[in-house]
Amino acid sequence: MLVAAACTLLVALVGLYVLTPLFREPKGNLDVELLAETELDRLLNRKAVIYSNIKDLEFEYKMGRLSDADYGRLGAGYKAEAALVLQKLDQLGAEKNVDEQIEKEISVRRGKLSSAPPSQSAPGFASCPSCGSATVPGKKFCADCGQRLA
Ligand SMILES: [Zn+2]
Repeated sequence: MLVAAACTLLVALVGLYVLTPLFREPKGNLDVELLAETELDRLLNRKAVIYSNIKDLEFEYKMGRLSDADYGRLGAGYKAEAALVLQKLDQLGAEKNVDEQIEKEISVRRGKLSSAPPSQSAPGFASCPSCGSATVPGKKFCADCGQRLA
């Protein structure tokens, strides 16, 4: 009877241990899918997963659940994948920076163009070189002093 109870408890514990990740995973995967809208997000998520795997692996190894060979093999696999993801992130980051730089330059040029002060020789807003009063565009002589206008 005691053995049966112990077995039931054991089965329940194992079941809980097996099922708990299943209950946790869907939510985590959903979050990951929602975030994975761009290649960059996908890579960042992948990096986070790999790092968490490496942490888990080191934990398992320290707990004595992994042999040296398994630890070395799995660790090397994770690290190779992490290196690949980091490399892709670098490439994406570089491309993103170039785009940002181009955007920046364009906006600077636009800003320079739009903020350029109106030139004094702009047509329609000339002033008489003699008396300084505003002149009417198209007129050959100043209306105030009679100075000939260019
Ligand atoms: Zn004048």
